Amino acid sequence: MKLTFLGTGTSMGVPVAGGFMREELFHDPRNERMRCSIWVQTNECSFLIDVGPEYRMQSIRSGIKSVDFVLVTHEHMDHIGGLDELRMYNYKKKGPIEVYTTQSACDSIKNRFDYMFGEKKYPGSTSLDLKVITAPMNIGDVEITPLPISHGSLEILGYRLNNTAYLTDVKHIPESTIELLNGCETIILSALRWEPEHPTHLTIPEAVEIIEQTQIYEAYLIHMNSYVDHESTNKKLPPHIKLAFDMQTIPLR
Ligand SMILES: [Zn+2]
Ligand SMILES: [Zn+2]
Repeated sequence: MKLTFLGTGTSMGVPVAGGFMREELFHDPRNERMRCSIWVQTNECSFLIDVGPEYRMQSIRSGIKSVDFVLVTHEHMDHIGGLDELRMYNYKKKGPIEVYTTQSACDSIKNRFDYMFGEKKYPGSTSLDLKVITAPMNIGDVEITPLPISHGSLEILGYRLNNTAYLTDVKHIPESTIELLNGCETIILSALRWEPEHPTHLTIPEAVEIIEQTQIYEAYLIHMNSYVDHESTNKKLPPHIKLAFDMQTIPLR
């Protein structure tokens, strides 16, 4: 079982539209970050967490031939902008793709992609089967546990997949969710930048503090902005915490 980071960048991507980026960061391709999403492959299934606006390019460069279902963390466009790109998988699956998320994200997806749903459904448009997830479930060989977290004023979900936790766009993790991380071997956590503090995202020092609290021994940071340099940042982090980079593949524990 393994997971691939399809993108590790913040909402605007890195570099941002127009190509703007600190010039000294261009030397390292690991500093180019598409919007955050992962692809999980197990013996029994292939699925995504989030589908960003660059999904078409991400799927081509990673060779994602099938998607059985999708877990969505929240309704911001950098996490759902590519849902329309799943149409090809409808043809392969001969049916809708199940999308598990919060009630708020279901409502938002129906509003923003209104031509895919209900009476407004446009013939031939992408078919999604939106489902609210509130409790752990097993799909194939993966146990999926939703992890409630706060992204500023928005209540969103991270996901625990077996013993790997994926938490993006985090500002606060409640104690009840920290308990759900018990026994995890890998944590993937968002960290926007070094400083200053941000109202809806953890900074790198804040994320490191949370990882140390959980005592999970392998950690990857995601959702970084255009000011975060891969190599020099990794040198400053504790040895068990690393920045993830686009196209990196790690085992799903
Ligand atoms: Zn985001
Ligand atoms: Zn967000």
